[in-house]
Amino acid sequence: MDFEKLADLLFPQVTKKPADIEAEFPPRSLPEGAKVTRFAPSPTGFVHFGGLFPTTVAERLAHQSGGVLYLRIEDTDAKREVPGAAEALIRTLSVYGVNFDEGAILGEDGKVADHGAYGPYKQSLRGPIYHVFAKQLVKEGRAYPCFTTEEELEELGQVNKKEEIKNTDWQAEAEARRAEMLRRRQFTMEEVEANLAVGNPFVLRILADGDPEKKIRFTDLVKGNMEIPENDEDFVLLKSDGIPTYHFAHAVDDHLMGTTHVIRGEEWLPSLAKHLQLFRYLGFKTPKYMHIAQIMRLDEAGNKKKLSKRDMGANMDDYTRMGYCPEAVCEYVMTLLNSNYEEWRMQNPDKSYRDFPFNIKKMSVSGCLFDFRKLDDVSKNVISKMDAKTVADRVTEWALAFDPAFGAALARDPAFTEAIFAIGRGGKKPRKDLATWADAKPYMGFFFDEFFALETTYDETYDRADIRAILEGFLSTYDEADDMNTWFEKVKALGEPLGYTPDMKAYKADPTAYKGSVADVSMFIRLAVTGKLNAPDLYTVMQILGKAQTEDRIQKMLHTLEESK
Ligand code: GLU
Repeated sequence: MDFEKLADLLFPQVTKKPADIEAEFPPRSLPEGAKVTRFAPSPTGFVHFGGLFPTTVAERLAHQSGGVLYLRIEDTDAKREVPGAAEALIRTLSVYGVNFDEGAILGEDGKVADHGAYGPYKQSLRGPIYHVFAKQLVKEGRAYPCFTTEEELEELGQVNKKEEIKNTDWQAEAEARRAEMLRRRQFTMEEVEANLAVGNPFVLRILADGDPEKKIRFTDLVKGNMEIPENDEDFVLLKSDGIPTYHFAHAVDDHLMGTTHVIRGEEWLPSLAKHLQLFRYLGFKTPKYMHIAQIMRLDEAGNKKKLSKRDMGANMDDYTRMGYCPEAVCEYVMTLLNSNYEEWRMQNPDKSYRDFPFNIKKMSVSGCLFDFRKLDDVSKNVISKMDAKTVADRVTEWALAFDPAFGAALARDPAFTEAIFAIGRGGKKPRKDLATWADAKPYMGFFFDEFFALETTYDETYDRADIRAILEGFLSTYDEADDMNTWFEKVKALGEPLGYTPDMKAYKADPTAYKGSVADVSMFIRLAVTGKLNAPDLYTVMQILGKAQTEDRIQKMLHTLEESK
């Protein structure tokens, strides 16, 4: 077979040679050790939590080493493309600290446009580039056309199904595949010419030289050393519309764009032999590969399951809706990515996660477990370190979007809102009440009359007359100008004559000797003022609420007690 002639027949329009293309994509001049990584999504939907993972790794490795992180849009499957998905994806990732240096990134008009010297960064615009390399492979007898039409292929599928090679009969299946492959490879130049003359479409297939009995040794930077069977499948490089498959496109692009590390999900591991073969055929240096394990979750029965697209927490937009702050999500991702992250965090409580020396060797080889409880713990820590103004502003912003009535209340008097969030903040042991912005309402909604509600009533065992006497006593002695100590002394004094001792030690030593303690007295007042048994420091709550509102709430409780007499 005259492969030169075949190549010219198939790609008459292609005049450039691989060397011409190489010249258009010169090697990057970067410092020694700088890594070039990429995110290469298909714009088919939202960013999945499992997608943020490899992307964060790519971001860290690139930026930690003074390298480049770029975005390539893999839009070779037009049928699956969702309009606007690329833009949404870029915005979401940027919220989670993944910002691209180069690639198909957002311009000032909010639309995706190329930035950088290695474009186009959308695969659908790189057709002519792929065709140069495809032609070269044909010239070298490494790829061949296959004129089987889609209908014929479908029919073939039917036939195979009818013959139904039993799943267990691997050898028979392999032989059948081999026979089909050899049949496909048998063609004459005349047949090609005749097909082209009538405009029959063809797919371009690789001429696989592998023997699955033999193994390729390979080192994945996450999975370690592995042996994978060689590829003997004549997989498709170009589809009948001339558009490349992922296999072919990523090899050409990662080479020309100077990718040093391909970081992707482990679902690509089974295709690796094909990719290594392709890099070899094309004469490209193989990049380093890192295959990242799937994220797992626990199902109701406690079994590990893959975090699927439909699971809560899969879609990154869920986190915004639920009120998780991106800093917390990033922090959580880091704890999942590197086993020594939490230790580092303890030693460096105030540093940015970007200061952490991210290490590929500390990555989990098997799947990480996604756990909302852990995320909440991490998040509480992150939020506890923020100042009151930040928390107030961000809760307000979130609530205005997702709980407008509450948002309006928070926005009414920003200084008031900030004072509330200042409670218990800033000290050595800050309060950790909030895991999400949505937790703010149950925590401090009672400050606003419209969200005040009695969560519970007093326990039956308390004497209603005592409660009333204490609340009335409080009303007659409360002075907003009192300092905390004076205030507390008054609270203690309210209960003592009724048998509620201010001496906690004595009470603990013999609870039967008293009706109760000052803790019960405080609880009577707390429930009236906050509607809750657990609330932030009561003295401060009253200071922020103001005398009028504090007294009003106690009055209301007295009425309630009166009515329920
Ligand atoms: N477009 C591929 C995907 O959607 C990219 C895989 C890769 O990163 O190479 O998963």
